[in-house]
Amino acid sequence: MHTDPDCIFCKIAEGRIPSRKVHEDEEMFVFHDINPWAPVHFLMIPKEHIPSMAQVEARHAPLLGRMMALAPKLAVQEGCRPYPEGGWRIVVNTGDDGGQEVHHLHIHVFGGPRPWKKG
Ligand code: AMP
Ligand code: ZN
Repeated sequence: MHTDPDCIFCKIAEGRIPSRKVHEDEEMFVFHDINPWAPVHFLMIPKEHIPSMAQVEARHAPLLGRMMALAPKLAVQEGCRPYPEGGWRIVVNTGDDGGQEVHHLHIHVFGGPRPWKKG
């Protein structure tokens, strides 16, 4: 599996940089955002170093599907109120125009009672 030794999120997935872990399995790592925009804000990353959504290929579809299927379970586990009163927001920033700062694909999951810092 391709990883990048200089990538901050690869280092987090390998435990070389500490994080507040939410979930880990063979193919993904989930941790709380260090600078949360909302009462609940965590990031879901593949362990494979994929720079962004722009590099996603058909072979990644099962992994991305499993990440999206797990997101609702982790959202509720981490304190999002259930649908429809509660809910959450999922964002994948891609490239400079998309507001991406860390170039390792990540799914933001935001939730909890408003107001939020952004959005
Ligand atoms: P993006 O702008 O979509 O690339 O988002 C990158 C996110 O990574 C931001 O929300 C940062 O707060 C978050 N972040 C950066 N470094 C860390 C870290 N060491 N641990 C947890 N979250 C981080
Ligand atoms: Zn990486």
